[in-house]
This record gives sequence, structure tokens and C-alpha cells, in this order.
Amino acid sequence: MSDKTYAQWQAYCQALVSQQRIEGRAFINGGYRQAQSGRSFDCINPANGEVIAQIAECDEADVEIAVSAARQSFESGVWRNQSPKVRKETLIKLAALMEANQTELAALETLDMGKPISESFHVDVPGSADVIRWHGEAIDKIYDEVAPTQDDVLATITREPIGVVAAITPWNFPLWLACWKIGPALAAGNSVVLKPSEKSSLTAIFLARLASEAGIPDGVFNVVPGFGHTVGKALGLHMQVDCLAFTGSTRTARTLLEYAGQSNMKRVWLEAGGKNPNIVFADCPDLDKAARSAASGCFYNQGEVCVAGTRLLVERSIHDEFVQKVVEASRYFKPGDPLDPATNMGALVDKQHQGNVLQYIQWGQQGGATLALGGEAALDADKGAFVEPTIFTGVNNQMRIAREEIFGPVMAVIPFDDEQQAIQIANDTDYGLGAALWTGNLSRAHKLAKQLRAGSVWINNYNDGDMTVPFGGFKQSGNGRDKSLHALDKYTELKTTWIQL
Ligand code: ADP
Repeated sequence: MSDKTYAQWQAYCQALVSQQRIEGRAFINGGYRQAQSGRSFDCINPANGEVIAQIAECDEADVEIAVSAARQSFESGVWRNQSPKVRKETLIKLAALMEANQTELAALETLDMGKPISESFHVDVPGSADVIRWHGEAIDKIYDEVAPTQDDVLATITREPIGVVAAITPWNFPLWLACWKIGPALAAGNSVVLKPSEKSSLTAIFLARLASEAGIPDGVFNVVPGFGHTVGKALGLHMQVDCLAFTGSTRTARTLLEYAGQSNMKRVWLEAGGKNPNIVFADCPDLDKAARSAASGCFYNQGEVCVAGTRLLVERSIHDEFVQKVVEASRYFKPGDPLDPATNMGALVDKQHQGNVLQYIQWGQQGGATLALGGEAALDADKGAFVEPTIFTGVNNQMRIAREEIFGPVMAVIPFDDEQQAIQIANDTDYGLGAALWTGNLSRAHKLAKQLRAGSVWINNYNDGDMTVPFGGFKQSGNGRDKSLHALDKYTELKTTWIQL
């Protein structure tokens, strides 16, 4: 597998941009096309402010065409009536094509949203291909059910695809999260319209061509780029969309629920942010490991991770010692040019978001928290959207920096005195996506894991996992689960057939 030096990545990406090889059109019914209106908007590299492509600015008219193509393909049975084996083989081929195009997909992801190229190349693209392959491989190994009825009845419980699935995705893991939705949705036999974030549309647009090459029939997988208030809203309100699968902000999640209520009660599946507690007890078996993990759990992907460990809860008896270790471990994260393979912290997604994150840092200081690390814009602050890894100590859980999702590299350290207080602070949040505990005491780990109100709880690690386990939130972090076979619950209806014998 080829990797490149810094200079090679720069040359490769420069060629993509200067030769205008970056595709920005919508993909509808098997082909690329401009927006009906003819409008487009700039795609900007957040590391340097350069315009790298034009993205079709789709709107209601394009949604209409895409949903109708999806509907027709669904009704025709061209995909849903394929045997699970054929759907499996097609998705496995798509995964292989993604791997064959690893370099270009990684370059697009990094140019588009600023994450380090080493992560796009080694983590995001292979991880995304793995998601597609996993769901493909699973789909011909799932059996339906026969109910334990009386003797003169045969009752079957079967899963059927829902119909037209609209996936609305965010900009922090553009390809990966799109695959979390489309993998199970396509495997189950649905037709899909994907709306990527307007801030990071490129890999989704590229993926559509690969899906077509892999043999996904025309109309079954469509990508409609554009803005939330136009394309997203039109999908949310559309009477022919049967299911909305979303990852993004809690604000938008609420709006999608309203759209469903105002239209056809489409199924709405939401993954919507977090303010995740990472709890370190004095009996933690390895404080150095916990400190490294606290740093990467908060600063990976520039902190633009819904499940980032942004609230670090530390038992008071080890507070100063442990915070010192976390500060040292966090110095590892240094903002740098995302195209340099040595960079481990890239640019935030855009200048506007950088401004929001810096505003939170200011609020943190004004609110009385103490800066233990960072706190400033970094590198070429005029053009690039970089922010230093930032740690606040002296935080109490009522402060704004402890309650609101900042979605940037900002950690709030909160001391606690005992188990009960740790759990009280951890659960005192509107969110419930992830939570971690560090302790050498097995009973404490089991007991407290149960009490944490979060969709994922990690013991002596932060945010580890793989495709075999579901991911999603309690409370205002959303509903439904991505990954694992449970993801299929979102994209299938259960049918009971009661047969009188
Ligand atoms: P963020 O603030 O992190 O960008 P958003 O929730 O705004 O998160 O965006 C996530 C996705 O939701 C994006 O694809 C965005 O275009 C879409 N979106 C935003 N607003 C709406 C809306 N009113 N209706 C439908 N989709 C929306």
C-alpha cells in the first residue's frame, strides 16, 4: 500500500486542484449532474483558505429528482429483490474499490475538512471500507424468525427494507459516518439519498461513482450536496422519504423530528453530540496510560468528535499529579499542515468554527476556569482554522464549557471526591453518548458502568471498539444505533405474517 512523503502529498493535491479534477456535482440516478439551478458554491481548504472545487448547490428541485429516482429504483425491485448474496458481493466490491482509491479519497477528505492526511489515509478510508464490507458480509447470514404459536398456525417475523432512506451527515468524519448509514441501509435493500455536509461533500460525491462501478443499480444510491435549510429540509419534509438517518447537532436533530411530524412520520434516527465524562479514580491501574488516553480521547481529529472526552473528572487525591500528566501527554498534539504525514492535529473545519471554539475558550476564562494548556489560535491564524489543544482546570459542571458541546480541542477538568459525586457530575448533562471509567476495582467498574447514562461505557480505555458493537446515545445524544447488526433496526421494518394452517 503506497504512502507518500509530505512533498508528494503536496504535489498530488496541488495537481488535483489545479487540474480541476475534483468532482463537485450531484450524483443522481447513475450519473453526475449540475444542480438544476446551475448554482454552485466554493469548497474551501480550511488549512489555507484556498478554493479547491465548486460544489453543486442543490435545492428542492434536485431533491425531487433524486427522491423520485430512489423511489423508482426501490419499487422496481432492482436492488431490494436481489438475493442477499448478490447485495453482499456488490458491497464487498465497493469496499475493495474504496481501498483501491485510498489515496484520492484520503486526499479529498484532508483537503476538504482539514484532518491530518495520515489519519485520512490510514484510518478513515480503510475504516470506511471496513464498514461497507462488514455490513455486506453480514447480510446473507441473518435469519428471520418463526414465532412459538399454537399448532395450527405458522407465524413468521421477517425484516423488510423500509424504502427510501435519506442520510444527512456531518463534516467531522465525512466518509466514515456516511458509510455507517449507507452500509446497513444498502445491505438491507433500501434505496438511499445521501446529503453530505456542505462543509465536506467531496468524498461522498466520489463514493457515488465507486458504488456505481461496484454494481449498485442506477437510482439506488444518490448524493445530493447542498445546504441543510434547502436540501436537508426538503428531504426531511418529503412524503416519499421513509427514513431519515442523521448525525449532527442536537439543534438540527430536533428540527428533523419536527419535519417528520409535519410530513409522513418518517422514521427518524439521530446521533446528536455529547459532553462525555472521562472519570479517573485514584485506584486507576495505569495513570500514564489514562493520561495519554485522556489526551487522545479529547484532541483526536482536532476535538471534532461527538464522543470526545471533553469532561475529565479526576478524583481529588490525584488531581494535580494526574492533570500534570494529561497536560504533558497533550503536548504531543501539535497543529500542523494536514498534508504533512507527521502532523497529528490538523485544521478545524472552517474559520467560522474556529471563531466559535475561540469564543468558548474566552467564556471559559471569563467564567473563572484556569487555562492549563493552549487557548489560542495556532499557525497561520489569518488563513488557516487552527486552534491549540486547550485544557481548563478549576471547572465546575455548571459552567458553559462543561455543559455545551464545543466540538473543538477543549477539555474541562472537574475534580470529585467520591463515587457518588463522580456519577452525579457525569450524569448531570443533557447528553448521553459515551462515558469512561478508570479504576482497578472490578466491582466498582461494574457497579458504576450500570449507573452511567450513556450509550457506550469504556472501562480502562477511551472510545475503543469495533464494528461488532453498537454506537449511539441516551438522552439528547439521540436514538437508534450505528454499527453492528443492531444498525439494521433503523433500516428495516418488521413484518408479522400469521398463517392459519
Ligand atoms: P454542525 O453544526 O456540526 O455543522 P449540523 O447539524 O448543522 O451540524 O449539520 C449536520 C448536517 O445536518 C449537515 O449535513 C447539515 O447540512 C444538515 N442540516 C443542517 N440544518 C439542517 C436542517 N434545518 N434540515 C436538514 N438538515 C440540516
